[in-house]
Amino acid sequence: MNGIIYVIFIVSAMTITPSVFEYYTPSTMVEAVNLLEKYGDEAKLLAGGQSLIPLMKMRFASISHVIDISRIEEMDYIKEDSNRLSIGALTTVDELGSSVTIKKRYMIIKEAADQIADPLVRNMGTVGGNISHGDPANDLPAVMLSLDATFMVQGKNGGKEIKAEDFFVDSLITALEPNEILYEIRVPKMVKRQGGAYIKHKKSAGDFSVAAVASNIIVDGDGKIIKVGVALTSVGPTPIKSTRAEGILAGKKLTEELAAEAARSITEESDPVSDFYGSIDYKKKVLRFIIKESLVAAYKRAKEAQ
Ligand code: FAD
Repeated sequence: MNGIIYVIFIVSAMTITPSVFEYYTPSTMVEAVNLLEKYGDEAKLLAGGQSLIPLMKMRFASISHVIDISRIEEMDYIKEDSNRLSIGALTTVDELGSSVTIKKRYMIIKEAADQIADPLVRNMGTVGGNISHGDPANDLPAVMLSLDATFMVQGKNGGKEIKAEDFFVDSLITALEPNEILYEIRVPKMVKRQGGAYIKHKKSAGDFSVAAVASNIIVDGDGKIIKVGVALTSVGPTPIKSTRAEGILAGKKLTEELAAEAARSITEESDPVSDFYGSIDYKKKVLRFIIKESLVAAYKRAKEAQ
């Protein structure tokens, strides 16, 4: 959903209250899944409430059973092992940005987390909620797409792993079934000579983006690009993973000219709409500029990362 809708929500939310609902506070993931199964389409998970509560206050979402998962401690962690970084879905955006592990090696995640909204929203909003909401203006989805993350999901009939690129179906629609919970986000462990950058262009501090770009690059010892992932925020009905970046950049050293050529081509994959944040033409111009900027920053970090 476009960020402008939030402005309307927030103004209106001061005067409107949600419809009546039953409220549950499970303390384990199993309890939450059982409640989801029991109440089906009439139930909704509540994590940080930063997206859901405004929707409920506006009565855009009429829900008769609210399952508040914010007390489930087993879903709040950041761990790294030899294969991957694992982020519990209830990790708050603030915890993500302040984590020593993230600061040390996952600068692309830190850059996105630190630019989400304001301290109040970051203290309450969760990584799982930011991703599950399916808002193409949210910042973490594009980062996860660029990093080839996967999402661990649990339902009554078992668990599954969904690739980030298969998760975002349409605006506010994801591959999650109504009775499923996202419990963990998995990111392949950063390797030697890997770097990433998240560049967000916004109208004012704390705002959603006009457009934003996540770039993730791995280089070899000669500085040639081995692997690249580029994903875009706020310029389509879903976050967009570029299908062209790899073909243009793999096997080459990044120069200013090559970055500009890639930016031109990747911009063609976007599908922005004209709204409060700018015209289609303006957004594409911004996008072209920040794709280049993020590629150059990610490439520099990749060459420096040992
Ligand atoms: P909730 O609001 O609790 O839930 C959102 C949705 O996700 C609901 O449908 C809920 O059922 C579902 N859900 C939550 N957790 C799970 C789970 N574990 N498994 C399955 N489904 C789940 N975001 C940005 O990225 N960038 C911004 O610049 C930005 N600016 C904002 C400014 C304001 C003023 C506000 C209010 C929000 C802003 N946001 C922004 C959104 C914010 O990051 C929210 O935190 C996020 O979208 C939702 O996270 P939450 O934990 O609050 O989820």
